Amino acid sequence: MSEESYLVLARKKRPQKFSEVIGQRHVTTTLQNAVKTGRIAHAFLLTGTRGVGKTTTARILAKALNCENGPAPEPCDECANCRAISEGSSLDVIEIDGASNRRIGEVRELREKAKFAPIQSRYKIYIIDEVHMLTTEAFNALLKTLEEPPPHVKFILATTDPNKLPPTILSRCQRYDFKTLPDNVIVEFLSKIAKDENIEIEDEALKILALSASGSVRDALSVFESIISFSEEGKITAKIVQDILGIVDSMFLADTVQAIVNDDAQAIIKLTSQLSERGYDVDSFCEHFLKFLRDIIVISAGEDNAAGTLQGLDLKKKLSAQRSFDEWLMLFNLFYECSKEIKRAENPFLVLEVSLLRCMRSKFTVPIDDILNKLSSSERESRGFPRNEDGSKQSRNRENKSLFESQSSYNTNNAKFSAKESSPPNVSAGIQTVPLSQSDKWNEFLRILEKRSIILNSIFSNGCRKVFHNNILQIFVDDDITYSTVNMGKNPLIISEAVKEAFGKEVKLKIEVEKKEKECNGKISKEEKKISKDALIAEAMEDRNVQAILNCFPSRIVDIKN
Ligand SMILES: [Zn+2]
Repeated sequence: MSEESYLVLARKKRPQKFSEVIGQRHVTTTLQNAVKTGRIAHAFLLTGTRGVGKTTTARILAKALNCENGPAPEPCDECANCRAISEGSSLDVIEIDGASNRRIGEVRELREKAKFAPIQSRYKIYIIDEVHMLTTEAFNALLKTLEEPPPHVKFILATTDPNKLPPTILSRCQRYDFKTLPDNVIVEFLSKIAKDENIEIEDEALKILALSASGSVRDALSVFESIISFSEEGKITAKIVQDILGIVDSMFLADTVQAIVNDDAQAIIKLTSQLSERGYDVDSFCEHFLKFLRDIIVISAGEDNAAGTLQGLDLKKKLSAQRSFDEWLMLFNLFYECSKEIKRAENPFLVLEVSLLRCMRSKFTVPIDDILNKLSSSERESRGFPRNEDGSKQSRNRENKSLFESQSSYNTNNAKFSAKESSPPNVSAGIQTVPLSQSDKWNEFLRILEKRSIILNSIFSNGCRKVFHNNILQIFVDDDITYSTVNMGKNPLIISEAVKEAFGKEVKLKIEVEKKEKECNGKISKEEKKISKDALIAEAMEDRNVQAILNCFPSRIVDIKN
C-alpha cells in the first residue's frame, strides 16, 4: 500500500449507508423509520461531540431522501443522485459551514435560493454544520425559513453545542443526539480496518489509540493514519503508538502509583526525573495519571468493564486490590488539587515531584464510625465479652499499614481515650485549649491558603498539630520533606500573610518539625512533658472526631498515650 493511499483512509472508510455508521444505531434506526413511514420532518438537528458521525449521517440522510430509488430507508448508493451526494457535487444538496458562513447575508441568500425548486432531485436539502456559530441576525433569518419552509426544502442542522441554539430554532427541529463512542467500539472498528488493510497492530496499541480519540471515530482514524505513515515496516506496537502520541505508558503510571503505595520516596524521585529526561509534558502526565487513578477507583468499585479501563487493565486490577476504595478516592482528590498547582508552576517538574511525595505521605482521616466501632469493641472486651467477627476483622484491617495512615499523635492506632463520667472541661494552666473562635480563624487561614496555594492548603489541612499560646501560633509539620516544602520559594511569605489576615497582625508564627517520641526520650524535663501532654489534649479537643465522641459519651480526656 502506498503512502498516499494511507492518507485517504478516513475518506475511504467514511460510511456511505446507515448500516455502516458506527455506534449510533439509536439515531440511524429512527431516521430510517421516519423515511420508511414517510413522516419526514422539515428540519433535523443532529447533536453530539466532534467526530462521532453527524455530518456523515446528514449526507446519508440526504441520499436516502433524494435517492432515485427512494425515498428509501437505505440509499442505493449507486444511482446518479446518490453518487453526486457522495462526491459533494449534487446541485440540490447544499452544505454550509456555520463557522465560516455565519453572517446574515449568507442566510438571506440561502432563503432566496430555497424558493426555487430542486434541479435534479426530490428535495432541496441544506446541511448546516456547526449551526450554533451563526450570528443572532442569521438565526432570525433562518427561523423565518424554518417557520414556513417550502415543501421541497429540508434542513439538516448539525452542532456540537445545542445549548447555544435559540429555543425558537430548537423547537422547530426533530432532534437526534449522537453518543460519544465507547473505547471498545472504536477498538473493534480500528481492528477491522487493520485487518482489511493488512496492517499488523498489537491489541494494546489499538486500545491506546482508542483512548486517545476520546470517543471520536474521526480522531481515531486520523491518529491511526498518522501512526501508519510514521511507523516503519512491521508490526505496530503499543510502544510505537505511545512514543508517537507522547503518552506515558501504563507501566510507568503503575510504577508511580506503586511507589506511592509503598511509601517509596526514592522511586518517586527517580520516576519524576525519568519523566523529565524523556521530555514528557507534565500536564499530559497529570491528565493520564488522573485518568489512571480514576480507572483504579472504578475497578475498586467493582466496575471492571466500565469505559476507559481497558488499557493496562491487569496492572490497574493489581493496584486496585492493594488499597480500599476510600483510600483511592482520597489519593485522587489530593492529586487533582495538586495538578491545578502544577499547571500554574514555573517549574512544573519540581512541583510534580513534591506533589507525588505529598500524596505518599498524606493522611487518612479516620472515619468517626471506625472510632465508635473500635470503642464499642474494646468496651465489650473490657467487660469480658469475646471480640465479634466484625471487630476482629477491623483490627486486622487496622494492623495493615494504611496508605494514608494518620501519624497524628492522637489517632486511633496509638492513642487511648479514657472515658469517665461527666466532669468539668479540663483547662490547664499555661496552654489554653484553643477556643472555638481560634478554630474559626484556623479555618479562615486554610480558606485563604486554598486560594493562594493548594499544596500549602493540603499540608495544613492534613491535621497537623498546632498550638496557640501568648499570641504565638506554633504549627508542627510531620517531616523534613514537608518542612522544606513549606519553606520553598514564596511559601513562607504566603503563609505569614495568611496568618496575619486570619489571626491578626500581632500573631507570630513558628513552624517546626514534629519531634518523634523516641528522639525526645530523656531530653525533656518533667515540666515540658506536662506542657506537651496538655498541648496534646488541647489539640485532641480540636479534632472533630474527638468532639463527636465527647458529645456522645459524657466524658473528658484524661490522658493521651502512645
Ligand atoms: Zn440512490
